[in-house]
Amino acid sequence: MLPFKLIYSDDYYLPIGAHVFPAEKYRLIHKRLLESGITEPGDFITPKPAHDEDILLVHTREYVQKLKTGTLSAQEELQMEVPYSLELVKAFWLAAGGSILAADMALRDGVACNIGGGFHHAMPDHGEGFCVIHDVAVAIKRMHQEGKIDRAMTVDCDVHNGNGTAVIFPPKLRPGHPLPSASASSRDIHTRHEDHFAHPVGELDVFTISLHQAHNYPVVKPPSSIDINLPDGTNDDEYLGWLDQSLSSAFRHFAPELLCYMAGADPYKEDQLGGLAMTIEGLKKRDELVMRVAKEHKVPVMVTYAGGYARHVEDTVTIHCNTVLAAKEIFS
Ligand SMILES: [Zn+2]
Repeated sequence: MLPFKLIYSDDYYLPIGAHVFPAEKYRLIHKRLLESGITEPGDFITPKPAHDEDILLVHTREYVQKLKTGTLSAQEELQMEVPYSLELVKAFWLAAGGSILAADMALRDGVACNIGGGFHHAMPDHGEGFCVIHDVAVAIKRMHQEGKIDRAMTVDCDVHNGNGTAVIFPPKLRPGHPLPSASASSRDIHTRHEDHFAHPVGELDVFTISLHQAHNYPVVKPPSSIDINLPDGTNDDEYLGWLDQSLSSAFRHFAPELLCYMAGADPYKEDQLGGLAMTIEGLKKRDELVMRVAKEHKVPVMVTYAGGYARHVEDTVTIHCNTVLAAKEIFS
C-alpha cells in the first residue's frame, strides 16, 4: 500500500465525443496503475463533487448559473473548445471535488495525487481551452477558507501557459514595483512577487510558476510570479535546468504551505498540441525534481494531471503513471 492517496472516479471521464483531448485517459491510467502493480485498490479514494459554494470561491455567480442552466452563448461554448452538456458540467464539479480532496490528503500525508484535474485555462467568468472549472484554484481557496493554508505555490509544467491560474492569482506586487519582463533567453529568473512576509497574516498569497512553450496556446499569457517561455524543441536537459532554477528562485522568495503541481504530459516530443522535445524519461525526472524539492522544503505536494495529447494515448498514460511512480519512489 502506498503511504499516500490517489483520488479517482470513473466519472472523471469527459463526455466530449471524438476529440483531441483523450477523455478516456483517466480510466486507462487507473487500469494501468493497478495492472502494473504500482498501486493496489486500497490506494484509491473516491471524491465527491465540489459544492457550488466551493466553485463560487473562484468563479462568478453568473458563469456558474450559465453552466448549470445550459445558457452559455455560442461564443462562450466555442471558447471552451469542448461541447457543452450537463454531464460535462458534472464531470468538472467532480474534478474540482477531487482536487479539494487531494489538497486535503496532501496536507495530511505529505503528497496526494488527483488522477485528473489541472484545468489551468479556466477563467473566473468563462471556460477556455478544454477547461471549464479551475479545480486547482478552487482547492487552494477552499483550503484557505478552512484555515489550513495561507500560502500556496503552483508549479505548472503543462506545455501550455497557465493563463487561468495567473488571472485568478495575479503576482502580488507593491504599488509602483516595476514588472520584470518574462524571458528564457538567459539564466536569470525574473520573479514578479513580493516576499511572502510582506503580506498580512491570514491573507491568501499564491506564488505561480508556469514553464511553457512560448509559441503555443494561449496567445495572451498574463504574468505569473515566474514565467519561463521555452523555445520550440526544448529538450530534457534544458527543461530540467529551467525547472531547477525556477524552483530555487521561487523558494528563495516564498515559503508555501502547499505546492500544487500540474504535471502536464504534453511537453512530450510526440504530443499533438506541443512543440517541445522531452522524452518519457525526461518527464519522469521532471516529476522527481518537483517532488524532491518540495520534500526537501517539507512542503506537501498536491498533484493534478492537466493536458496530454500524445499521438499514441498509451504514451500519455505512461507519462501520467510515471508521476505516481515518482511520488512512490520519493515519498515511500
Ligand atoms: Zn496543455
